[in-house]
Amino acid sequence: MPARTPDDPHGFRRRGVLFVLSSPSGAGKSTIARKLLDAETELAMSVSATTRSMRPGEVDGRDYSFVDLERFRAMVADNAFLEWAHVFGERYGTPRAPVDAMLAAGKDVLFDIDWQGAQQLYQIAGGDVVRVFILPPSMEELHRRLTSRRTDTDEVIERRMARAANEVSHWDGYDYVLVNDDVERCFEGVKTILAAERLKRSRQTGLIGFIRGLTR
Ligand code: 5GP
Repeated sequence: MPARTPDDPHGFRRRGVLFVLSSPSGAGKSTIARKLLDAETELAMSVSATTRSMRPGEVDGRDYSFVDLERFRAMVADNAFLEWAHVFGERYGTPRAPVDAMLAAGKDVLFDIDWQGAQQLYQIAGGDVVRVFILPPSMEELHRRLTSRRTDTDEVIERRMARAANEVSHWDGYDYVLVNDDVERCFEGVKTILAAERLKRSRQTGLIGFIRGLTR
């Protein structure tokens, strides 16, 4: 008999959801991700590796694993990434082993990755992947948010704005698209998507045993 837990009172078991959140930087994705992780005990975060330098307030191993180019290349050569991509002239990748471990432990996994990562993950894990894209209410608002967090130079902000327009153009590679004009409302929307995706019949691998018990 599969284990019964508060999240799975009938012992249905299910395949873990690979939950991808993408957005142009500044659209509020990190806030939504943080709130989601606080609210959802069955959800664990995939911590990416990156070659970019650490920003003030970031913690190595929590926000990213900060690695040099040599180390990143070695990880690519070892097939240690589920996916990786060039972003802003730097490299970002999703380490494979922690994701496998989280899924094996019965967790869903949250990914804060860009459209290239979403696409690659979808190619390798198809039906397990749920892709959510968060849009800013306007480009003016995005610029205001990027400027007010005071972590980047003007040049970097302009590069991020240019990249945001490019990122937004990939909206149609996602299963769900939300506008973050109100953080609470957007968060509720994302939570609802996760709840519904968890209930999909195709994910509930132990369902057949329960049905047999019902109809015996
Ligand atoms: P930032 O430098 O602002 O933290 O992130 C820049 C962009 O890289 C964001 O759009 C973020 O989602 C993306 N990103 C972060 N980690 C990964 C990753 O492991 N793979 C991919 N493909 N993109 C990532």
